[in-house]
Amino acid sequence: MARSDEPSFRDSVNMMFNRAVALTGLPPGLVEKIRVCNATYTVRFGVRLRGDIHTFTGYRSVHSEHMEPVKGGIRYATSVNQNEVEALAALMTFKCALVETPFGGSKGGLCLDPREWEEHEMEQITRRFAYELAKRDLINPSQNVPAPDMGTGEREMAWIADQYMRMNTTDINGRACVTGKPLNAGGIAGRVEATGRGVQYALQEFFRHKDDVAAAGLDGKLDGKRVIVQGLGNVGYHAAKFLADEDSCKIIAIIERDGGICNYDGLDVDDVRDWIAAHGGVSGYPHGDYVSDGAALLEYECDIMIPAALEGVIHLSNAARVKAPLIIEAANGPITAGADEILRKKGTIIIPDMYANAGGVTVSYFEWVKNLSHIRFGRMQRRQEEARHQLLVDELNRVMDAAGLSEHLSESFTQRYLSGAGELELVRSGLDDTMRGAYQTMREVWRSRDDVEDLRVAAYLVSIGRVADSYRAKGL
Ligand code: GLU
Repeated sequence: MARSDEPSFRDSVNMMFNRAVALTGLPPGLVEKIRVCNATYTVRFGVRLRGDIHTFTGYRSVHSEHMEPVKGGIRYATSVNQNEVEALAALMTFKCALVETPFGGSKGGLCLDPREWEEHEMEQITRRFAYELAKRDLINPSQNVPAPDMGTGEREMAWIADQYMRMNTTDINGRACVTGKPLNAGGIAGRVEATGRGVQYALQEFFRHKDDVAAAGLDGKLDGKRVIVQGLGNVGYHAAKFLADEDSCKIIAIIERDGGICNYDGLDVDDVRDWIAAHGGVSGYPHGDYVSDGAALLEYECDIMIPAALEGVIHLSNAARVKAPLIIEAANGPITAGADEILRKKGTIIIPDMYANAGGVTVSYFEWVKNLSHIRFGRMQRRQEEARHQLLVDELNRVMDAAGLSEHLSESFTQRYLSGAGELELVRSGLDDTMRGAYQTMREVWRSRDDVEDLRVAAYLVSIGRVADSYRAKGL
């Protein structure tokens, strides 16, 4: 259990921000402008369901408009509250700045348990919430562009986009009012997996830097590392799956709502996910040891810990016992400010949330650009690229023939070389490039300044600097 003297999520974010900003020398007035949340809109609306009027409370918080539109997900959970939405909106500002997506920060939430309602009821509730936000320009392609978050996904985004377009029938860019839509409703290939994919790319980049790996007390490659994942939702599932399938990591423990399972030989992520879908939790899973107190697994030995669910799971009471030398924050705010300090003193390396989970908003940016340009990525170039590759392959084979060589380019090489990049390949390439670039910028600050102790402060410094530059350019 978290201790009662633990600061709130928003205070935790502020404390981390303050630690970084103290190293900037920015004027206090500008610091305050960057720190504060510009506005939070609270709406209570009624929907007639099951013969009764039910009142729901929703929020959309805009942290910073130094760039517009502002961007950030909409969360559906009973734990949603103003404090949380504001903390998450602030993190969006810094996240967008760090990965150079041209957005300010925002976040929304609706206080409800999506599992309590049928699909048609969820649609009614979502459309009404979208109506309330859209009529105040809190959903708008050029001002405020929501996306999925915990408890929401493609389905909700499709309803929101449709609702906005019904209200704005002549807006040719209407589809860009929200990202994370299904492919057939203006979405982009690779958006669902994007945050998990980003976590994988972040770890791949971390392991390219031997000094950073050594700082965590680890060695070698990502290959074979023992990983604990907390939360097998969209982000945790994709991160775990890609790390296991493509980087040969061993997923030794998975923590879910009803407890955790552990298997030192490695868990089959898809098998666990199917089990959860069929049984509602991990309990009873036959290929691992079940631990009813899932949080206890956060303290098990491993190489990499991936908290991918709620905020505040590593706190003042358990931080000292967390053994992972490397933690990558796939969730927003999983480590409280107090826990952060304990872990830092222990030498734990933390790859901070605003970088680690930025894959989602990065691919959202690509989707928004796709919607505004009204054309799928790769549509113009793909076949032309293939034709040029074909020219080269034919010419090489001709030259080899002419030289009397019996060897030709192999079939598998030819096939791989010939295929031009479609949307999915381009999205992955753009995401990989973004994750590599942002890590390098962040680590450069971490490594080159004696007063910067960790990657989190480095990330804040990069982001705060960029936000400050935007405000200055506006004459503030
Ligand atoms: N909800 C995700 C996040 O917290 C995605 C936001 C977006 O794509 O705008 O980063």
